[in-house]
Amino acid sequence: MNCLFCSIVEGTIPNKTVYEDDQVIAFYDIDPQAPVHFLVIPKTHISSVAAVNGENSAIVAHCFEVISRVTKDLGIDSYRVVSNIGEQAGQSVPHLHFHVLAGRDMTWPPG
Ligand code: AMP
Ligand code: ZN
Repeated sequence: MNCLFCSIVEGTIPNKTVYEDDQVIAFYDIDPQAPVHFLVIPKTHISSVAAVNGENSAIVAHCFEVISRVTKDLGIDSYRVVSNIGEQAGQSVPHLHFHVLAGRDMTWPPG
């Protein structure tokens, strides 16, 4: 399968890794939308939140555990976690990922 984030997991596309273990990788976004902007992705291919189910949802909990740990390691105590699902919401890479944004004021509602 030709998936950009699977290629990052395989190491064929370089990235600025902030955290990695056997299940997930976190790396800085190539087009940051805040002073701190990294992505947390499962190493296994899941297309989006819409494809999360009882069989694979443990990885989602692990992603959030990693978000909690990495933000603490970076000294960040206020941040936003976003996951875009589908074209209208702005998903451009069809591999589950959580954006973690920090370092500036965030508006609500989001655009
Ligand atoms: P989304 O548009 O919600 O699917 O998020 C995909 C994100 O991946 C965007 O914020 C892109 O800037 C980011 N992105 C695309 N290619 C790369 C890459 N090679 N390395 C890091 N981030 C990337
Ligand atoms: Zn993938």
